[in-house]
Amino acid sequence: MAEKYYCKYCGSHYDSIAQLVGQNCYKNPDGKRHVLYEGSTQKKEYVCKHCGAHAGNIARLTGLTCPKNRNGNKHHEPAL
Ligand SMILES: [Zn+2]
Ligand SMILES: [Zn+2]
Repeated sequence: MAEKYYCKYCGSHYDSIAQLVGQNCYKNPDGKRHVLYEGSTQKKEYVCKHCGAHAGNIARLTGLTCPKNRNGNKHHEPAL
């Protein structure tokens, strides 16, 4: 199974980092491009670093709004 690279803001995944950072991310609060999620992509569960909510994958976690995220982005953000 080929390794995938995930965006920490939206959970989109790509075959290479170059592809990932070359695409616009509609959930990135302070830039336009996807930002690499640098934690393990093999986790069974991802936890929001702001509020502790968890979900089975990054896309699902970042697809929900976060009650404690004050960084401009109102969605959950996965802890590493
Ligand atoms: Zn993204
Ligand atoms: Zn959260």
